Amino acid sequence: MKNVIVVEDDKITQNALLREFKSYPTLNALFAESYVQATKILRENHKNINFAILDLTLPDASADKIVALFNSHHIPSLILTGTLSSKLRDEVFKKEIIDYVIKTNSKSISYAVKRVYSFLKHHKMSILIADDSKLYRQKIKHALRHLNIKIFEADDGLKALDIIENRDNNISVLITDYNMPNMDGLELSIKIRSLYTKDDFSIIAISTVEDRETIKNFIKVGANDFIIKPFSDDEVLVKANSSIEILELFEKTRDLANRDFLTGAFNRRHFFDAGNAILAKAIRKKHTLAVATLDIDDFKKINDTYGHDVGDIAIKEMARIVKENLRESDLSARFGGEEFCVLLDDINLSDSKKLFNKICKAFQDNIIQTDDVNISYTVSIGVSFALAKESLDEMIKLSDRALYDAKEAGKNRVVIHTH
Ligand code: GH3
Ligand code: MG
Ligand code: MG
Repeated sequence: MKNVIVVEDDKITQNALLREFKSYPTLNALFAESYVQATKILRENHKNINFAILDLTLPDASADKIVALFNSHHIPSLILTGTLSSKLRDEVFKKEIIDYVIKTNSKSISYAVKRVYSFLKHHKMSILIADDSKLYRQKIKHALRHLNIKIFEADDGLKALDIIENRDNNISVLITDYNMPNMDGLELSIKIRSLYTKDDFSIIAISTVEDRETIKNFIKVGANDFIIKPFSDDEVLVKANSSIEILELFEKTRDLANRDFLTGAFNRRHFFDAGNAILAKAIRKKHTLAVATLDIDDFKKINDTYGHDVGDIAIKEMARIVKENLRESDLSARFGGEEFCVLLDDINLSDSKKLFNKICKAFQDNIIQTDDVNISYTVSIGVSFALAKESLDEMIKLSDRALYDAKEAGKNRVVIHTH
């Protein structure tokens, strides 16, 4: 549970915020209507306040004063205000805030709370701090303590590279100093950019005001941002947080482009992208492969009898069963309608038979309970099994031919063609 203090004197906004907070059960909102009330809440709960949403027009304090209060407690803050004059904006931007939102309608209120949620949520990616000064590593780590993110440390460039190359660490943001033993920050950045692009991995360079040349060089080799020493906690926090948000947005966009809307399964386009990469590797390693096409039997009857919505449920269930019976590394995708394709790398004929028969049986045994009716259906599965050599497209066509034979032979069965 995360505590979010809302300093807001307007009742309508308070209520709108309260409604929004209801959609986020992990966020607990504490309301203050004035500067005095805010200080009281801070005194009572100081250590447990994770975030602040601040109105700038309060009855008993200037905008400057309320922001300064939360800055002094190092509580990450978001400004939610009716208007923001350029004078006020300049004042506020001298302070450190995560974001500011103009409250024009319910959309902006909802955006503000979502912003708080995404700031406080647990991030899958992690951050690496590379600096030979323990003091600075600690300072940065301290600044990031409000972010729900795993932090790694390295005291030289080589060690940093080692930590990054370990995929399990899931490092996506590097905050790096320039001067380090064994490998400096610049060299480290060059190495990273040969492995990852800017939308996969973010580099934030640390430098001093005097050393403008270093900053320029960092940017040239692909750093995303920089921090100048001496820096405040909030500066580090804001920069790291926006890096993470941008990376997560890229990831979401990539994911949307690769997935089917109805089922969340991968789509045809991703199947070919990922499948061709698997095939290329399999050819080098002389693996045998199985490509299968699965299709629901008499699906038109489900649609005609129960309606399209129940048909959709049946398709979603298909995605679930396919996924449940495969390993994480196996590739599957919805090819359209009620048809799925599967690619299994490095598998032998007998294991392929076993697996696809198991999947076929799983469908036969499954009863789907919808609100109104219980339905069940079977699938037919066509498999082409071969030594990796042919094109993916060709293997899919061959599996489609096997599927046709399975349908002709009476459906609810697996037909495997070896090539
Ligand atoms: P067979 O056993 O030969 O496969 O017969 P079938 O009735 O399943 O025939 P076919 O595979 O040709 O039917 C596909 C049907 O799937 C036709 C189409 O209306 C329906 N369909 C395609 N996409 C969707 C979808 O997204 N949702 C729903 N509910 N139905 C879909
Ligand atoms: Mg069908
Ligand atoms: Mg079909």
